[in-house]
Amino acid sequence: MNFEYLFFDADNTLWDFNLSEKFALFKVITENQVEYEPIHLEGYHKVNKACWHNFEKGNLSAADLKTKRFELFCHEFGLKLNAEAMGKSYLQHLGSTDFMIAGALNLLDRLSSRHKLVLVTNGIKEVQRRRINNTGIEHYFEAIVISDEIGVAKPNAAFFDHAFEQVSFPAKKDVLMIGDSLSSDIRGGNGYGVATCWYNPAGAAVDPDVVAGFVISELEELVGIV
Ligand SMILES: [Mg+2]
Repeated sequence: MNFEYLFFDADNTLWDFNLSEKFALFKVITENQVEYEPIHLEGYHKVNKACWHNFEKGNLSAADLKTKRFELFCHEFGLKLNAEAMGKSYLQHLGSTDFMIAGALNLLDRLSSRHKLVLVTNGIKEVQRRRINNTGIEHYFEAIVISDEIGVAKPNAAFFDHAFEQVSFPAKKDVLMIGDSLSSDIRGGNGYGVATCWYNPAGAAVDPDVVAGFVISELEELVGIV
C-alpha cells in the first residue's frame, strides 16, 4: 500500500456537481417565471467562477457569495429579481440533490476496506451536509472537513492542518490528496507537502504551475495508484 490516507474532494470528484448545479439553477430560474435557456448556465458559470475565485483568495465571505453570484447573474441577464431570495432557493435545491460521479460509490466501498478516507470539501455546510446524507457516504470516512464549518478553505494550509488534526496527524508521505481542482485540491496538496492526484475526466489543459503527482481520467484508475 502506497497511501494509508486518501483525502477526497467531493464536488466533481465524487459527486456530479455539474448536474446538481444545472438542476438547482433550472429550479431557481423557472420558479421566478423566467424560461430557462442554456445560456443561463453559461452566464452563471462565469459569475460563480469569479465569486469562488474571490472566495478562495479570501476576498469574499461564504455568506456574501450566496447572494453576490445572483446579483451578478441578474445583472448579466437584465433580470429584476430578488438576488438574496434566489441565492437561498438555489442552495435549497442544490442541497436536495444526490447525483454521483459514475463508479464513485463502488470505489469508496472498495477503498474504504484498506485505506482511511477523509472527505475534504470547499462548500457551504448546510448544502454539503445534506448531500452527504442524501448520497449515504458518511460511513466511508474517518473524518469530514467542510470549509464553511472551519472558516478556512483549500488550498490554505490551515485547512489541511485541520484535516490532519481530525485523523491524529498522519505522516505526510502516507497521504494522497485526490481532486478535480488544480487551484484548490492540487495546489493545496502540493503546498502542504502531500502527494496529489488530479482527477481530470474532461482532459483539461495541464497547468505548468500546478503539477499533480498523478493524473487520472477515470476514478477507477485510483485503485492502481493507492
Ligand atoms: Mg471539486
